[in-house]
Amino acid sequence: MNRPIRTPQELAEAGYIEAAQIDDIARVAERYAIAISPAVAAMIDPTAPDDPIARQFVPSAAELVTTPLERDDPIGDLTHSPVEGIVHRYPDRVLLKAVHVCPVYCRFCFRREMVGPQGLGTLTPEALDKAIAYIAEHKEIWEVILTGGDPLVLSPRRLGEMMEKLARIDHLKIVRFHSRVPAVEPDRIDDALIAALKSCGKTVYVALHANHPRELNAATRAACARLIDAGIAMISQTVLLNGINNDPDTLAELMRTFVEMRIRPYYLHHPDLAPGTSHFRVSIEEGQQLVAGLRGRISGLCQPVYILDIPGGYGKAEIRPTSIEARGDGCFTIRDFRGGEHRYPPEA
Ligand code: SF4
Repeated sequence: MNRPIRTPQELAEAGYIEAAQIDDIARVAERYAIAISPAVAAMIDPTAPDDPIARQFVPSAAELVTTPLERDDPIGDLTHSPVEGIVHRYPDRVLLKAVHVCPVYCRFCFRREMVGPQGLGTLTPEALDKAIAYIAEHKEIWEVILTGGDPLVLSPRRLGEMMEKLARIDHLKIVRFHSRVPAVEPDRIDDALIAALKSCGKTVYVALHANHPRELNAATRAACARLIDAGIAMISQTVLLNGINNDPDTLAELMRTFVEMRIRPYYLHHPDLAPGTSHFRVSIEEGQQLVAGLRGRISGLCQPVYILDIPGGYGKAEIRPTSIEARGDGCFTIRDFRGGEHRYPPEA
């Protein structure tokens, strides 16, 4: 198929769900969007029952279960939205959510109530102008993070128009895009799109969202290389997901592959309390053990920052296990990567 799979019927025809599951999946689809791009479909092994790519994108009846702790806006975007499309949570940066559509819909998405055809839609030209005016009026804003939705679904023409407006804001220095496009629609990363991204004249970063090393295939690598060769810096973001990447080998391979692709590992997100996603969540203790295990196992270049978005909109907090403890006598106990403990400063 050369177009995305979007309906329960199409999922069944592709062999991703059984015919008997169609009714349940139709109930999921009433609330949460479905899309599996052709590039993602090509990554899925339909013979593997727990294929880690399929689990990220093929809906399941488990999404019909919302637990008491889960909430529609798990990271509190709406609490910090002074104008439509802007989230201003930290002093020196804002999110600009120009679109609420994606080329694929992740089953664990933390903005699943906002994205998709039934979501918040695309900003009107007037709303976009107001959002950009907000950035221009707030001189403390050093960085704008385009997210959503996936901003790289916009056409090069529309991206270029937006970049031109951002280019006029002198105090804005960094424009960062959060996107899955280089992996899930790699052909979109062409000369026209790259020219649009660069047209703002600012330093541009693209944060690639990828959760399993199999997403980093030859097509993804080539798309990222086109961005990086054009002078666009890349960082990574990964969600720690039960049954997909919560094992040391997978995480180590993913982080190493990012570095081999010249992408600096950045965020490892603890999964958010989005509705119908409890089957993806791991405990913080498990996440900390995995992250501690990466320390001795792979190069410092490959270490992600393990973070939790504090529910309610209080921002991100680093939750990696600490390797240092105050002893109470002015000295510290420091743990090395093998678990050995040492006093600092050492005995004279
Ligand atoms: S690409 Fe991002 S915004 Fe879109 S569904 Fe996936 S996690 Fe959500």
